[in-house]
Amino acid sequence: MYKSRYTTAQVKQILNATGDVVNDNPISLLITDSRRISNPSGGLFFALSGRRNGHEFVAEAYNAGVRDFVLSAKPEGYFPEANLLIVDNVLAALQHLATHHRAAFNLPVIGVTGSNGKTIVKEWLYQLMSPDKNVVRNPKSYNSQIGVPLSVWQINEKNDLGIFEAGVSTTGEMDKLEAIIQPEIGVLTHIGSAHDEGFADRDEKVAEKLRLFKNSRLLIYNYEQMLDYKKLIATPETFIWSRKFNQADLYVFSEAVISKNYYMRAVFKGKEIECIIPFRDEASIENAVICWATMLAIGYDPAVADDRLERLAPVSMRLELKNGINDCSIIDDTYNSDIQSLEIALNFLSQQNQHQKKTLILSDIYQSGLQQDVLYKQVAELIKARKVDKFIGVGTAMSSYRDDFEVAEKQFYPDTTSFLAQLQTQQYRNETILVKGSRSFEFERISQVFVQKAHETVMEINLNAMLNNLNYYRSKLKPGVKVMAMVKAFSYGSGTYELANILQYNKVDYLAVAYADEGVSLRQAGISLPIVVLNTEVGAFEKLTSFKLEPVIYSFGLFDEFIKYVQDSNIFNYPVHIKIDTGMHRLGFEGFEVETLCDMLEENPYVRVQSVFSHLVASDAAEHDLFTKKQIDLFEKAYIEIEDALGYKVIKHLCNTSGITRWPQAQYDMVRLGIGLYGVDGAIPADEGVLQPIATLKTSISQVKKMPAGETVSYMRNGSLAKDGRIATVRIGYADGYLRAFGNGVGCMLVNGVLAPTVGNITMDMCMIDVSQVEVKEGDEVIVFNDKLRIEELAKQIGTIPYEILTNISQRVKRVYFYE
Ligand SMILES: *Cc1c(COP(=O)(O)O)cnc(C)c1O
Repeated sequence: MYKSRYTTAQVKQILNATGDVVNDNPISLLITDSRRISNPSGGLFFALSGRRNGHEFVAEAYNAGVRDFVLSAKPEGYFPEANLLIVDNVLAALQHLATHHRAAFNLPVIGVTGSNGKTIVKEWLYQLMSPDKNVVRNPKSYNSQIGVPLSVWQINEKNDLGIFEAGVSTTGEMDKLEAIIQPEIGVLTHIGSAHDEGFADRDEKVAEKLRLFKNSRLLIYNYEQMLDYKKLIATPETFIWSRKFNQADLYVFSEAVISKNYYMRAVFKGKEIECIIPFRDEASIENAVICWATMLAIGYDPAVADDRLERLAPVSMRLELKNGINDCSIIDDTYNSDIQSLEIALNFLSQQNQHQKKTLILSDIYQSGLQQDVLYKQVAELIKARKVDKFIGVGTAMSSYRDDFEVAEKQFYPDTTSFLAQLQTQQYRNETILVKGSRSFEFERISQVFVQKAHETVMEINLNAMLNNLNYYRSKLKPGVKVMAMVKAFSYGSGTYELANILQYNKVDYLAVAYADEGVSLRQAGISLPIVVLNTEVGAFEKLTSFKLEPVIYSFGLFDEFIKYVQDSNIFNYPVHIKIDTGMHRLGFEGFEVETLCDMLEENPYVRVQSVFSHLVASDAAEHDLFTKKQIDLFEKAYIEIEDALGYKVIKHLCNTSGITRWPQAQYDMVRLGIGLYGVDGAIPADEGVLQPIATLKTSISQVKKMPAGETVSYMRNGSLAKDGRIATVRIGYADGYLRAFGNGVGCMLVNGVLAPTVGNITMDMCMIDVSQVEVKEGDEVIVFNDKLRIEELAKQIGTIPYEILTNISQRVKRVYFYE
């Protein structure tokens, strides 16, 4: 993707690798994920061992056209044209190559670390300094042991400033990142509790972070935050900002909210200076002050700093998947545009299977550090590789390279207004549309036209959190154990193909739904994974077979009917799954029935048994462990008998989410991961932090009222305030799934960070909360649940389980999916 500076032979020498160089290829692009190969030429594949061993993906990368590899062992298979460079440690080799590259440039580099705000501060510094500097920075939050080398690799001759963030989760990591980044100037952001678990104590964590600056000339930090850690600071120069210490280099002594902005006054070099920022939440204010201090510390004029800070734009790292008009899906990524984030967004677009057609609306890209012809050639290559069917380029630069784009359908417009002026939305139907633009193009005006108007109550689903949870459980599995992801009941209320697309892309082995119709919807949305239907109905056989859905056979009656059906349809070896009842007493063959079942299965040409399974009734509850053991024994007895009768091996599976956590000895060949995927596991305390809740349910305030003590609120006059106060009416009711049981103070919601209890009965579409203790106004956001006010807590309030809270959220509540 970047101009090549290296060849295979040079890389071999830099890495001190062994292995033959068959062809000395130019090397320009580092690849660490075989699924993301959009342009193999110049690519060097690092077979990193992560959750899966990177060596498993060598063949995939080779078939995609990659010819250069860094590996820790010779791979199996035949790769005649490949250069296979062998090193001891593949990750260390990646880092070493980046370090070598960095050392070739002597541009000034700002290093950013801390526990919160790293990415925002890095992006804001970029916004603030890019008017006069050609800045290279990490794409998104590429701040890890892998992300940092990939970021630093982008440095080229045109850059005159680097801004790189570094993130660590345990000791010993920062030295490696420091060697790669080599920051001259250090910026320390907020130190909070994130990643505390990786360190013995706060001292150790702070010390580890500060190692990024061990060779820096200047460190910018907050006085209050570092009071206890002053002895750890070793940089020759410092720039200190403070709200308390009047000798600080930047002493902020006055702060005020002015409508939507925040106004600050400070003393700098003995003079009073000021700045206004377009944010007023605590975290943004702190991050903005850090940026302010950094600009002053490196010599920007206070007036220039003020002028630029006033125009700071929110940093949105995420793209959102929403329902669009005319049966379209919209991927909304309207905040930034650079070649790396374009690649990520196109990659996300290519994971979407629900529509035949893929459309991209893209603006000119600014600040790429590349010549325009090189840049747009790269864009054109990416678009071709990702098989975009319809391309709309907006901007004069892009338009002048229109001939470079090889797309079936293409249109070009000089600006957003001219695109919107001619837009006829009926020409967009049943397609996935990625809307991606640089900020100044205001592409939110385009996405507003395409996105279905949503009611203000929405459930946001964090796809990264789901992947985190999937990977957490994968890390608990023995090698080779498969994963069946439970996506029944709209994936526990969270969505259908939106989640299945991601699960399919991330190679789970099976999906499971409750009823055939759910499976049909997934197939119609292009999902090709094997899908198991748990609750097979006789009337649904035709749907099953025509959509390749695999039924669970749980009774003799069902078995007879199914055999009759496939026999009549002249189908052989149809995949089925056998359910054994070991104690749940819901569906399944009981122990004494297994022998007869075996007789029926023996040499039966019509079905092929894919798996045998049973379900644990209390895998998360220690008081039932004896019963669980009994279930395990009964299950083993049953599948041994069945496999004997069949004469071939089947997939055996027993564990649900908590079973994976508590019964590792019962993983067999596969596990069925349900609620854990969505961030809840009865066997893992929520505060352990390993699982991330994926859903946030939010709504807003429609009206605020002063309420005298004793005045009654809502139907049947059940609610009132004990003291004079205020109530707010919010846009959620029992028809949305906020059950009546939450009424009259049983439930509470988060408003501007404060818990506000319900007042009076919940009504169908609305309810009232007590906001006497919070500053609120109409339109303010209200959180019903999220990663802080957790579903587990709501379940406890009304005496139910998280499963019921999640699946109750009605379909009227729009789902929005985001991915970072
Ligand atoms: C729903 C279900 C699961 C998943 O259970 P979780 O506790 O959500 O992990 C597993 N197996 C069967 C048969 C199920 O119906």
